[in-house]
Amino acid sequence: MTAGHRLGLILGDQLSPQNPLLTVLTAGTDRLLMVEAPGEATRVWSSKPRIVMFLTAMRHYSAGLASSGFHLSYLALEDHGHPTLAAALAEILATTAPRELVVVQPGEYGVGAAITAQCRASRVPLRVLPDPHFLADDARFARWADGRKNLVMEHFYRTMRRHHGILMEDDGKPAGGAWNFDRANRRPFPRQGPGLLPMPLGFPPDATTRTVMRVVEQRFPDHPGSLEHFDWPVTTADARRALDDFITHRLAAFGPHQDAMWTGEPWLYHATLAAALNLHLLDPREVLDAAVAAYHRGQAPIASVEGLVRQILGWREYVRGIYRRFMPGYLEMNHLGAGAELPAFYWTGDTRMHCLTQAVGQTLEHGYAHHIQRLMVTGLFAMLYGVEPRQVHEWYLAVYVDAVEWVELPNTLGMSQHADGGLMASKPYAASGKYIQRMSNYCAACPFDPQATSGASACPFNVLYWDFLLTHRHRFARHPRTALQWRAVERLTPADVEDIRSAGARLRRHPP
Ligand code: FAD
Ligand code: SF4
Repeated sequence: MTAGHRLGLILGDQLSPQNPLLTVLTAGTDRLLMVEAPGEATRVWSSKPRIVMFLTAMRHYSAGLASSGFHLSYLALEDHGHPTLAAALAEILATTAPRELVVVQPGEYGVGAAITAQCRASRVPLRVLPDPHFLADDARFARWADGRKNLVMEHFYRTMRRHHGILMEDDGKPAGGAWNFDRANRRPFPRQGPGLLPMPLGFPPDATTRTVMRVVEQRFPDHPGSLEHFDWPVTTADARRALDDFITHRLAAFGPHQDAMWTGEPWLYHATLAAALNLHLLDPREVLDAAVAAYHRGQAPIASVEGLVRQILGWREYVRGIYRRFMPGYLEMNHLGAGAELPAFYWTGDTRMHCLTQAVGQTLEHGYAHHIQRLMVTGLFAMLYGVEPRQVHEWYLAVYVDAVEWVELPNTLGMSQHADGGLMASKPYAASGKYIQRMSNYCAACPFDPQATSGASACPFNVLYWDFLLTHRHRFARHPRTALQWRAVERLTPADVEDIRSAGARLRRHPP
């Protein structure tokens, strides 16, 4: 490389065919850089499927750049000794002296800070381009959030629907006559189960992915998770086929069964597109357009299409806004003062609780669990158990193929652990095992009894739920949104309280 050129750094979660670097920089003159940084795999104990997902998607993307006319320096894991992106950058900036480093706004706060610090140390000017992947940029989120007392997702979502004209009638009313079809969308499966389910389209590993799998097995042999079933889409072309498969075969039933769970069925009617979206292989507009078009064709009902639009235009953009507005302090939040260690079974699935065996088991096998498994099984247990939020965050960031911090952290600390003190959700998602019993068939195969709150066979969720209510009664008993739930504590006798407290302590000494 020669002085005078600009260097464009493409990060592992910026693999869009429309990456702005490809138009802002000049092919033939400016250069591109991609780095596989081992520190990204070890910063948290990243699962093998997650490491493979990122590395193989990066390698496929770099191969696609061959025809772009850009000179690309690609530092593959096996070919360099730099422990971190910053260390690799230090050497490249020193040896090639570009006149400017150009990067699209990094999604993760720490990555942005590290690049800024390295450019300063190397005395290379840094230019940060806005990321066009998102439908709400910082300014739009700030315009909505500034001056509001409560940052309620529903309000943000309606603003976004109106602004982008998605699922809106000409008269300004929401399509289908309502903003929200949650009531139609929270159904469990009937007793006999979901029946024959349409399996998501699989993408068996090609030669590039198989090479990455070998590298990951050699380099990170003790990391959690299995590569046996790895068949995620890792290119934009395959991600579009996966989108088409979802729209054609699962979208129509997505809404009603969004919250349902079933033994041995990891995918149900979910999109399984989060990794493709978060690595920017897919643009969220493509997903929204395809879903809305299916509605207009009469291929999917409004409840399902609105349910999906809510997740992508609402939740996904909202959590990013929260992350960008409250980092870096957000990472440290621990409103409930939780300090327990994460039970070891989160890394193995080795527990007698069938719901957790299922949720953790499929997570380690596929790098995937759907939202309610994350929120109301693994997340709920961690909150009731009182696990330190930082450890819960590091687990979620490690195990899912779609895990990137800007989306994972608010979902974990805010929505599932209530560690942000109600910034995202006005009350904790606290529930007993009866919720899991209602929404799944897990309890039927469990040695614990979801109806029992005391005794050796009591469902641990029940014991911990009451223990949680007792622990936090002073915090929530007077809050208008939680008072009803917490008032139940007043009906407990001193003997009940004693029983619950000692059973809770026993569970913490010997996780079930
Ligand atoms: P579907 O259920 O089919 O939903 C469609 C799409 O909507 C998803 O692909 C995703 O892009 C978006 N979406 C749905 N729910 C959310 C949400 N709450 N926040 C943001 N986007 C959403 N999602 C991630 O993408 N990465 C994470 O690291 C992540 N960590 C989570 C941690 C916890 C504790 C919880 C409770 C949720 C987390 N989520 C995360 C949100 C959600 O669980 C996943 O997006 C979803 O399960 C991915 O599966 P899917 O693609 O089949 O999604
Ligand atoms: Fe989970 Fe309790 Fe049901 Fe067992 S009984 S599956 S621990 S909710």
